[in-house]
Amino acid sequence: RAKAAGGNRYEHADPEADTRAITRYGLTNSLPTALERGEFFIEYQPLVRLSDGQVHGAEALVRWSHPLRGVLGPDQFIPLAENTGLIVPLGRWVLEEAVRQARDWQFQHIDGRPLRVNVNLSPCQLHHPGLVRDTVEVLKEAGMDPSALCLEVTESALIGADEALLKPLRELADLGVDIALDDFGTGYSNLSNLRRMPLSTLKLDRSFTRGMQHNPADPVDIKIVEGIVSLAHTLDLAVTVEGVETGIQAEHLRVLGCDTAQGWYYARPGPPEQLHELVLVDAT
Ligand code: C2E
Ligand code: MG
Ligand code: MG
Ligand code: MG
Repeated sequence: RAKAAGGNRYEHADPEADTRAITRYGLTNSLPTALERGEFFIEYQPLVRLSDGQVHGAEALVRWSHPLRGVLGPDQFIPLAENTGLIVPLGRWVLEEAVRQARDWQFQHIDGRPLRVNVNLSPCQLHHPGLVRDTVEVLKEAGMDPSALCLEVTESALIGADEALLKPLRELADLGVDIALDDFGTGYSNLSNLRRMPLSTLKLDRSFTRGMQHNPADPVDIKIVEGIVSLAHTLDLAVTVEGVETGIQAEHLRVLGCDTAQGWYYARPGPPEQLHELVLVDAT
């Protein structure tokens, strides 16, 4: 129903208000046991190559099926999970699930083309000493090549990033895991810092996609996106755009040289079967 209404059920403009609501509704009490009770699940949103429209992977987005409150989006409980420390086991669970899912896609796939999976990392996970070991273990257990995994970290998580924070990311990148800078353009990243980070992808925030809504697109946004794409490509980084809701936006962004797109225009986040269908249709 929410989908038919055209709204994103999980969209919340004010995360702090959400956090207050969580406390009010007493979610704090039910969060710690939610993981053992199997109340979390993952939706996958396809990542589409703009040059040929092929699906080449998907981002894993966690949801909480609360027994009383219904399905909650990450903005409604990730902040709480971060404050309570649950984010570390929850994050590991998401990683395990997503990597296992990617393995299944790989084997059930018509042409064996490996589909990649993107997993979001919260700042707490970055600070956790077990990150590299856990990730290596999860990949090994699933028998997956590290290159099938992309970890997304937000710009704000890396603000003032010192070597201690960059080291685990660098180790993962050296193993072949891709690192993407999520919501790029919303934080205050020092552009020259991009060189120090072991990144392979910039994910342009949805706010830039909005300026591509019209024909012609907003001239200032065009210049900005052009500049970012050129900077990214100079640094050997791919550019993914988020929040593509219309064909007009997709076309503008393709012409501007963006590599990959994600958004409702292609597919909403959905169950893993959705990806099967998209890819199988694609391959025929
Ligand atoms: P994000 O990583 O930037 O994910 C993209 C968000 O944009 C998702 O919201 C997705 O549903 C939404 N979206 C996708 N396409 C469109 C579109 O065309 N239009 C609009 N308006 N929105 C679109 P979602 O699923 O609510 O996730 C919100 C944030 O929660 C994510 O932002 C990510 O930062 C965080 N998150 C999600 N899953 C996890 C997780 O497993 N661990 C951690 N630490 N954070 C997560
Ligand atoms: Mg993300
Ligand atoms: Mg993002
Ligand atoms: Mg975003």
